[in-house]
Amino acid sequence: MNIDMADNAASSSHAGLVPGLDTQRSAALFGAACTLIPGGVNSTARATWAGWSPYPLFVESGQGSRLRDVDGNEYIDYLLGLGPMIFGHRPPRVTQAVVDFIQNRGTVFALPTADEARLAQKIIDAVPSVEQVRLCNTGTEAVLYATRLARAFTKRSKIIRFEGMYHGFSDGVYWSKHPSIAKAGPDARPVAVPQGPGMPKGVEDNLIILPWNDAEALAEVIAREGDTIAAVLTEPVMCNTGCILPKPGYLETMRELTRKHDIVLIFDEVITGFRLGLAGAQGRLGITPDLSVFAKGIGGGFPVAAMGGRADIMALVANGTVSMAGTYSANGIAIAAANAALDELATPQLYATLDAVSDELRAGLAKIMNDAGLPAYVVGIGPLMQVWFATEEIHNYRDAERHADQEIFRRWWHGMLSRGVLFHPGAYENLFVSTAHTRADVAATLDAARSVAAELARSV
Ligand code: PLP
Repeated sequence: MNIDMADNAASSSHAGLVPGLDTQRSAALFGAACTLIPGGVNSTARATWAGWSPYPLFVESGQGSRLRDVDGNEYIDYLLGLGPMIFGHRPPRVTQAVVDFIQNRGTVFALPTADEARLAQKIIDAVPSVEQVRLCNTGTEAVLYATRLARAFTKRSKIIRFEGMYHGFSDGVYWSKHPSIAKAGPDARPVAVPQGPGMPKGVEDNLIILPWNDAEALAEVIAREGDTIAAVLTEPVMCNTGCILPKPGYLETMRELTRKHDIVLIFDEVITGFRLGLAGAQGRLGITPDLSVFAKGIGGGFPVAAMGGRADIMALVANGTVSMAGTYSANGIAIAAANAALDELATPQLYATLDAVSDELRAGLAKIMNDAGLPAYVVGIGPLMQVWFATEEIHNYRDAERHADQEIFRRWWHGMLSRGVLFHPGAYENLFVSTAHTRADVAATLDAARSVAAELARSV
């Protein structure tokens, strides 16, 4: 069936996505898309093997906190595009800014505009560790630039990255995201495992993989190999293996060790940046990295990213020693969107309200899990959270692999989706709350959660 026929037909050839939910048009569209697009989707996180089995929902539209699929089902959306939709869908100020820019000025000029310096100024004003900033389009690019710059600045080649984190899909860092523990070496000193074949041989020689939240392992490797290490690359809150908070003192120790050994500390704030406050996780947690990477939070749903930090490091970009290119870097759409998004984010009380609504959701979910007697708890900070179905504490990727019950999570996800609450089917993703989510959305979500928790409690 071709895609136009599929768009007008319901398919009964697939098992349903979730019992009790009519998603037949999604099924038909997925079948047609699979003949044209490998795996039927354009990013791994939407693939069947990422949890969207037997097929992902196909989207009709989003508005505010709501998303509507092609079968007409409406959901309260905590997937939020995996993070960019910090204001919910179709935020008026950002949408209007982009429309105005395209209609009145254009899109790509291969020359600078004053607007990009205005945006740089807003980022620098918001994040004290950022003295200068370069703009690009995606988190993947921004991380690639940050690691290249750190290597050039230190004249060292190794990067420490942590098991369970995701820093984009470039060859240099797409390792040990979610490796099989059987292949990943000892707990205290994991080996680098590529995210599939196709990575050039030898890249792993420049990577040191460590368990996160383990200050001893970090101190030990820095004591031994510190003078070969260019950078420690970390998310300040681990958001790519569910939600895992740093242990008290861990990031402080990381800061101290990296400073002492002249290692560049890179915070990947693609998820946390401009979401946990204007100054991101670093502002909230009080740690000052050398370089930072921002993406999802700054564009209000448009592709824009930024990499910035200490002026002495950024000087290598300024004088052309380190090249950061990109036809679409700082294109008019991205910059118009980000300028409007940062203006909106500067609204007084915006983060306080976002946190309050998010806290209500987090506390409500925690109480529901507890009241139902389920082996589950909720971890999060601000508008980021995940439910762990586990009885043990989870502080790093291997804890998650060993203790998190993926099967119950799946049933939780099924139950919530069939009751009109959307989040990613993977336990290693997060629930995102936007400024468009209301207390009424939270109340409706908690009603659904109560019913699903009761169902789960009967079967656990
Ligand atoms: N870094 C982190 C922490 C991320 O979560 C992601 C994407 O999810 C990236 C980098 C890559 O960003 P992008 O998808 O914009 O390339």
